[in-house]
Amino acid sequence: MTVPNIIEINGVSRHFGPVRALDGVDMQIREGEFFSLLGPSGCGKTTLLRLIAGFDDPTAGEVLIAGEAMTGVPANLRPTNMVFQNYAIFPHLNVGRNVAYGLRKLRLAPDELKSRVSSALEMVDLTGLEDRGAEELSGGQRQRVALARALIMRPKVLLLDEPLSALDKKLREQMQIELRRLQRSVGITFILVTHDQHEALTMSDRIAVMFEGKVDQIASPNELYERPASRAVAGFIGGMNFIDAAVKKKTANQITAEAAGLGTVVVASEDNVSDDASEIVLGIRPERLSISTGKKAGKNRVVGTISDAAFFGEVTHYYVDLPGRQEPLAVSVSNSAEHETLPAGAKVTIGFDPKSLVPLD
Ligand code: ATP
Repeated sequence: MTVPNIIEINGVSRHFGPVRALDGVDMQIREGEFFSLLGPSGCGKTTLLRLIAGFDDPTAGEVLIAGEAMTGVPANLRPTNMVFQNYAIFPHLNVGRNVAYGLRKLRLAPDELKSRVSSALEMVDLTGLEDRGAEELSGGQRQRVALARALIMRPKVLLLDEPLSALDKKLREQMQIELRRLQRSVGITFILVTHDQHEALTMSDRIAVMFEGKVDQIASPNELYERPASRAVAGFIGGMNFIDAAVKKKTANQITAEAAGLGTVVVASEDNVSDDASEIVLGIRPERLSISTGKKAGKNRVVGTISDAAFFGEVTHYYVDLPGRQEPLAVSVSNSAEHETLPAGAKVTIGFDPKSLVPLD
């Protein structure tokens, strides 16, 4: 069964004078998914979120929510609600009044108001804190109040603009898991803006990776990591070695290429490699390479010299010089109890599976 789209972004651009904050963006977001907008600072994530919320209008193109064009529809009449980075909760109101704030115009009966506030607080694990002053809350609790205040409005889509960035690392990681659980239990669409790849990978069903106002790829975390569609995406998400390669033969399914430092390799062809490309770049993740002591060159195995090693507890990162390649190859190894860090200068054999080599544009 195909899940219907709750949001459709059709050819949306937003220009601020000469700045193309968004440039011809197309995107469909499905009902009930946890969707993230990921990219470096200034790529246009917040601009897109604000257009969905109705805080700003596109220069060109159209935003549809639940099948309806939103052009001219003000923010307060859209089925969306936003949670901001700085929480924006009122310091002079207690938790209950902060959470109930958006409902005041609905003039609900006191009992109903009370029950909606307490169920919103329950969702974010703040049961019973109605009377607590906003000033008496920790950073994590403030963020939960901000979430409860948005959820109490029962939006179809919750928009989250870097909601966890003010929290310290440990609390942020804990809140990532909670936010994900919350999204699953309420079942509404969450759209998260983040520049933190780990955050996006941990929480999302799908991620749109953006650079300079454009979308490079929309895919699941796994697909983005395993099959990045561009060099920019590959470099932004996780570590990646880039290897220059000269194409020797290309068929519909396979490319045979001479890869700098790795020798002749046969890799699966991808749509992003043009038919007449003579030079390509291959990507391989550091953890997809193996390292062993000694010199045993052969098929899919090359010999090199460790130039540097960095021990990180659960993993060790090695940098290995290979003849025919200028930059050292990064190799990461999960550490077991017996593992001893190999020293710089050691001769090693690097092994790889050609299936892990991804042709990139
Ligand atoms: P960050 O992670 O730093 O928040 P972002 O990806 O959310 O970045 P945006 O805030 O969407 O980026 O900004 C995209 C581009 O548009 C930037 O170059 C920014 O300077 C520019 N921009 C955004 N809002 C305005 C504005 N109101 N007036 C002029 N330029 C703007």
